[in-house]
Amino acid sequence: MNRITRNGRILECIQGDIARQTDIDAVVNAANAQLQSGGGVAGALHRAAGPGLAEECAPMAPIRPGQAVISGGHGLPNPHVIHCLGPVYGRDEPSDRLLEDCYRNAVRLAESERLRSVAFPALSTGVFGYPMEDAAQVAFRTLLREMPKLEHVELLRFVLFSQTDLEVHERALESLSKEESDHE
Ligand code: ADP
Repeated sequence: MNRITRNGRILECIQGDIARQTDIDAVVNAANAQLQSGGGVAGALHRAAGPGLAEECAPMAPIRPGQAVISGGHGLPNPHVIHCLGPVYGRDEPSDRLLEDCYRNAVRLAESERLRSVAFPALSTGVFGYPMEDAAQVAFRTLLREMPKLEHVELLRFVLFSQTDLEVHERALESLSKEESDHE
C-alpha cells in the first residue's frame, strides 16, 4: 500500500530523490545541528539549493534533536525547506520520541505556514543509523495522528531513495491501516 487518506489529506510514499520534488511546497531536510551541507539528504538539498540556503540557515543554528526550523528553498524547486535534526540512533535518547518530535514539529510548522504539501525523507535512517522498519512505524504513526488536525496541509509525501526502502514503507503503511481498521 503506498497511499492512505484521512480527513481528506493524503499520505503517500514513492521512490525518488528529495531534491527533485517539483510539485511540493516544502521539502524536509535530514539536517545536521549546524544546518550546513553534509552527506545524504543534506548534501543533495544544499547542492541543489546553492550557498544561499546555508547562509540563511546559519543564524538559526544550532538546532536540537527533534527540532524543526523553516527556510526558503533558494535554487530548489520548492519555496521552502523544513530542517529537522533526527536523533542519532543509540546516542540521542529516547530515539523514538525524538524522531516522533521531528515529524510532528515539521508537519505543524508546515500547517502554521499554511503550506499545502510537504515531502519527507526517511529521517535518521542514513548516517544516523535508525533501523528503517522502526523508523517507518514511528514516522507513519506520528503523521496519521496529525492528519485529522490538518486544515491547510493536504499532501504528505514520503520519498524513499531505494526500492527496498519503499517496500519497507509500503508494508508499514499497510500494517498500520490494518491495525486502525481492526480497532474500528
Ligand atoms: P540522517 O543523517 O538523518 O540519517 P541521511 O541523509 O544520512 O540522514 O539519510 C536519511 C535517509 O535518506 C537514508 O535512508 C538515505 O538513504 C536517504 N537519502 C539519501 N539521499 C537521498 C535523496 N537525495 N533523496 C531521498 N532520500 C535520500
